Amino acid sequence: MDEEIRVPVELPLDEDGYLRRECPSCENEFKWFSHEEGDPNVEAVSQYFCPLCGVPADPDSWWTPEQIEYGLGSAGSEIDRVVGDAVADMFKDMKGFTFKPNADFSLDIETPDALAEPNDMVIVEPPCHPQEPVKVPETSISRVHCLICGTPFAA
Ligand SMILES: [Zn+2]
Ligand SMILES: [Zn+2]
Repeated sequence: MDEEIRVPVELPLDEDGYLRRECPSCENEFKWFSHEEGDPNVEAVSQYFCPLCGVPADPDSWWTPEQIEYGLGSAGSEIDRVVGDAVADMFKDMKGFTFKPNADFSLDIETPDALAEPNDMVIVEPPCHPQEPVKVPETSISRVHCLICGTPFAA
């Protein structure tokens, strides 16, 4: 087994197509709009600015604790399956030994329940980058930072 195991993790979007995020600096939650893959409106950025506190961070440092747990859980069940197949392959080639694949073979990694994504928060569009709307808690709309350039605006 020398292949890299890649596990695509599907994170749920809310009804408007927004993904929940947590700022690594202020640890508050907001949501950004999840563009379709290949969407020409997507800005290529090396960092995003927190709409709530304005502090920038890498594009992949915005996971909520629930999303990390969910991702690890999904990876676990996939690894479980791959390992089960590899063990079955190993025994298949041994002469004089019959291996009956056991459907119950499991490393006992729990498959997580699907994450639920409530349709909360308010959509705000930065005037400087209107193609990158975000959702913030209603109490924060008087001062929001643009996700792309960090410019503050009031919704
Ligand atoms: Zn923040
Ligand atoms: Zn902007």
